[in-house]
Amino acid sequence: NHAVYFRNVSKIYNTGTVALNHFDFPVEEGEFISFLGPSGCGKSTALRMVAGLGTPTSGEVTVYGEPPEELIKNTNDIAFVFQDANLLPWRSVLDNVLLPLELRGGNKKENKQAAISVLEMVGLKDHLTSYPRQLSGGMKMRVSIARALAARPKLLLMDEPFAALDEITRQTLQMELLDIWKKEKMTVLFVTHNVYEAVFLSSKIAVMSARPGRLSSVIDVNLPYP
Ligand code: ADP
Ligand code: ADP
Repeated sequence: NHAVYFRNVSKIYNTGTVALNHFDFPVEEGEFISFLGPSGCGKSTALRMVAGLGTPTSGEVTVYGEPPEELIKNTNDIAFVFQDANLLPWRSVLDNVLLPLELRGGNKKENKQAAISVLEMVGLKDHLTSYPRQLSGGMKMRVSIARALAARPKLLLMDEPFAALDEITRQTLQMELLDIWKKEKMTVLFVTHNVYEAVFLSSKIAVMSARPGRLSSVIDVNLPYP
């Protein structure tokens, strides 16, 4: 029962660029996987396919045994955090986090409770009514993570979420993310070109080669987390 399965996936963009080349990789439920490799090796391409953003030229990507487009349409099982926090500037912090819950429908009061509780989890309960422009980069990223978590996804996809942050903010958010991962028992796919980040966060690292699109090795990290 795999959370995600890349089955012999190749992706050739219409520019002729080979972004993935017979990429074959299964992800078990509950794992924290980092995709590690130099810029241009195909990490984002792989991750975006799991979110239904782009399809393989050949091969197949499945999420819980289904094509990702189906899950995106029908469930809140997949959430995505991009490198830039991607917040809506005209919505408050609380309203940004509420958005996916509103889209799903459900009870207004319960949605609000859920949003406030994830914002508490990421240390932002005193900023519910702030607007994105009033927040630091680290705080915006926290909001973005809170928004992804609010829908209680089974699968969290993160594309270099900490790349633009200073070292201390990055380390703080890394610790928080690990805590949340352990608590919520999600599967996380995490894209990074930072070796230390990959080793610190992951249960397993998919190392991708500078020869574009190839999986060069898989490292079982399994650090004895405290
Ligand atoms: P990474 O995330 O590892 O930096 P990407 O998956 O973004 O790598 O890109 C892999 C390769 O595919 C790069 O050469 C990139 O320029 C190219 N590429 C990515 N997206 C597109 C696209 N939409 N059209 C054409 N080429 C693309
Ligand atoms: P990343 O920082 O994750 O590697 P990029 O900044 O390379 O991502 O790409 C950002 C966006 O631009 C993505 O939607 C990607 O598909 C697209 N893109 C990347 N490279 C190219 C390219 N060579 N041609 C067209 N689109 C590209």
